[in-house]
Amino acid sequence: MPTSSKPPSGPHRGGRPSSPPSGQGRGRPHHRPEKVAPDRTSPELGPDGLPQVSLLRRGVERWQAGHPWIYRADLNGDPGLQGGEIVRVTDGRGWFIGKAFYSRQSKISLRWLSFDDVAVDEDFFRQRLLSAQALRKSALLGETTYRLVHGEADGIPGLVVDRYGDYLSVQFLVPATEQRKALIADLLEAQFKPRGIVNRSDVGVRNLEGLTPEKGLLRGELPPGPISFDEGMVRVRADLLEGQKTGAFLDQKENHVMAAQYAAGEALDCFSYVGGFALQLATRAQSVTAVEISDQAAAQLRENAQANKLSNVDVVAANAFDFLRDAVDDGRKFDTIVLDPPSFAKNKDAFAAAVRGYKEINLRAMQLLRPGGHLITASCTYHVDEQAFEDMLASAAADAKRRMQIIERRGAGKDHPVLVNLRETRYLKCYVLRAM
Ligand code: SAH
Repeated sequence: MPTSSKPPSGPHRGGRPSSPPSGQGRGRPHHRPEKVAPDRTSPELGPDGLPQVSLLRRGVERWQAGHPWIYRADLNGDPGLQGGEIVRVTDGRGWFIGKAFYSRQSKISLRWLSFDDVAVDEDFFRQRLLSAQALRKSALLGETTYRLVHGEADGIPGLVVDRYGDYLSVQFLVPATEQRKALIADLLEAQFKPRGIVNRSDVGVRNLEGLTPEKGLLRGELPPGPISFDEGMVRVRADLLEGQKTGAFLDQKENHVMAAQYAAGEALDCFSYVGGFALQLATRAQSVTAVEISDQAAAQLRENAQANKLSNVDVVAANAFDFLRDAVDDGRKFDTIVLDPPSFAKNKDAFAAAVRGYKEINLRAMQLLRPGGHLITASCTYHVDEQAFEDMLASAAADAKRRMQIIERRGAGKDHPVLVNLRETRYLKCYVLRAM
């Protein structure tokens, strides 16, 4: 078994689990080293025939504190499984404490499915999908483009499903969902009758799970070309198979529409993709400059502007870092600026470099703003949390010698729920600042 260092799990508070599993005993002091069970060559099976995975004390405490992930270092030895199984989770004495997906290769070994001893079968997943759908139905009022399943935050770890009207775009991110592709596709077909389901599991995080990235048509037919969907007054077209992510950045959908409200005069949108922000700005601003490094995305953005009869959008295929530096050097000014870069840090070791990157673009944007102008600035880097992001903004404003007011602190839309016990689900920050 490869040894892996344990990611931070927060400070330990107190020495005892909040509720001792048996309710008797006095709770042993925790400084005594715990005996780890020998690695198993064949799994231990529970009463329902499912394999059991037992946790060390620290893992039990973490599970009981509500964290939906258990790391490899907190397992009581190697359970002798292949990966992808639904398992019974037990404490050191073999008491059942829940059910989870098991991953063999990832540092994250267990992902929560249930605290109760229920059957995790077709009906279990059907109910989770129905519950996810109920949230979108009540929160999004008749919209047909949204994130339908947001992994852990909807109780189906390692599964992302985005709905674009008649089509679904899906990511299977862990062995357990990868191995249940057919079941999940059956359930989605029965529930939504989509014309097609596209598999966009072409993402690097699959490598951490021992899965290779893959994409293609999963069920039904491919959309004939880019599909269209509405965001407020604007119609956006995006390619489900060839576009980034599952086709579009649905997490920013509500923020796109919000941005129109602040648009005025000369606007600048950096890291535009197919124009989620740029098109909204163009409905209110005199002119919009959109900077995007991918030629393919820039071309789609030009098409989108035309289709919306927005002739005031100038699309520049360039590196936004260079564009911002040159704009400052040339003494240019803007009234509204949007910064929505890709993630700058995939892990916490890249934190400092990520903050430097954010500071560079935010500092320049602040220098470019006219008094009274707005900066809409986003970060989808989970490792840079709200506090770190605000510290970066404060430092950028100081260096720019500008006074900046925070007008709004926003996150992803309501179709990207945040699980209170899993901070990782709160990854997107989107601030509206105003230059004094
Ligand atoms: N703002 C978009 C999403 C942006 S995703 C929306 O709301 O829909 C980040 C985008 O930045 C991607 O399209 C990517 O191609 C682009 N990008 C990445 N690095 C860049 C760089 N250095 N300069 C300009 N664009 C970049």
